[in-house]
Amino acid sequence: MNKRKHQPIPYGRQDITEDDIKSVIDVLKSDFITQGPIVGSFEDSVAEYVDAKYAVASNSATSSLHLACLALNLGPEDILWTVPNTFVASANCALYCGAKVDFIDIDKSTYNIDIEQLKRRLKIAEKKKILPKILVTVAFAGQPCDQEIIRELTEKYEIKIIEDAAHAIGASRNGQKIGNCLWSDITIFSFHPVKIITTAEGGIGLTNDKKLRDKMELYRSHGITRDKNRMLQTNSPIWSYEQHVLGFNYRMPDLNAALGLSQLKRVDDYVQKRNFLAQQYNNQLSDLPLQLPFVRRENLSAFHLYVVLVDQNEANKSREELFNLLRDRGIGVNIHYMPVHLHPFYKDLGFKEGYCLNAEDYSQRVITLPLFPTMTSDEQKFVIEALRELL
Ligand SMILES: *Cc1c(COP(=O)(O)O)cnc(C)c1O
Repeated sequence: MNKRKHQPIPYGRQDITEDDIKSVIDVLKSDFITQGPIVGSFEDSVAEYVDAKYAVASNSATSSLHLACLALNLGPEDILWTVPNTFVASANCALYCGAKVDFIDIDKSTYNIDIEQLKRRLKIAEKKKILPKILVTVAFAGQPCDQEIIRELTEKYEIKIIEDAAHAIGASRNGQKIGNCLWSDITIFSFHPVKIITTAEGGIGLTNDKKLRDKMELYRSHGITRDKNRMLQTNSPIWSYEQHVLGFNYRMPDLNAALGLSQLKRVDDYVQKRNFLAQQYNNQLSDLPLQLPFVRRENLSAFHLYVVLVDQNEANKSREELFNLLRDRGIGVNIHYMPVHLHPFYKDLGFKEGYCLNAEDYSQRVITLPLFPTMTSDEQKFVIEALRELL
């Protein structure tokens, strides 16, 4: 096989169909292009799909994480906990609210939050009276966390739970869809093009609590209400609106919601295809010096990412060498994630190497292989053969 002949293979890629394009064009020809009726339909459809009561769409999952923290009253006196093996947005949302952030290490097999560490840290925090107000769990690569155990451990401290499920729409646990918020207060999905389904940019917050829904909506649009029943000043004229809190403009346009509505029809197909491709990788890479993804029996992962860890004792190459050689062949490998606490910005806040050993060891060894629903068997074979040759 000619090693350089292949078109570059990205690590992820959106799938846009003719139907998707038509849905967006229809909105362009309608009266609403910013937030209008399609956003409402999209919210209802996502809520129905995951079996949650309410959904609030926004212009990104980053905005939705911020809205979730605001709705849960996170403020300067408060602490938010999350994991280091995530995108920076899971932690930044705390800082937007003036709160402090701290990190709980990950489990070595699922790369999600480590339950034993969580238990230990809760005990210490209880003694020192530095318990968090919010815990943001991250369904890494699309695999749900042990949410019911996490709820049980944190309930007595009244810690609120946000599930950052940016990777995980379509995933389920014990047959129940992630996003149903049975064991959390709010769940967030991202619709960035590399994620499971896309709205170009976009995010959503799911909840079963009407008060949280109302607050996320209020903060999404400048803190302004037009609802006559909520007006604080009496005798307000019919055209008036009132600002009640300091909100933002985090609205999703109807154009984007139309794309999302159209894409949502294929979410189960995408997750199925991602699982099929992951299984192919599992079968073909099992004899190489790589730690392959582990999905708990009770979970269906959405497989947003397929990550392998290089076994540094057994492999004849370092992670760096392997990464560079794969990139040389046009294979869009990536690293998910450099631990959040080791970014220069977070180090300036006082975090140091050695703070979360599992996440740090993981990040030294991980490589994300290309995986997206339109990946052809040819493309996947090319990746597999390159790995077999190089290792
Ligand atoms: C992508 C991602 C986000 C942010 O999503 P945007 O829609 O790009 O703002 C947040 N958390 C995690 C874990 C992500 O992967």
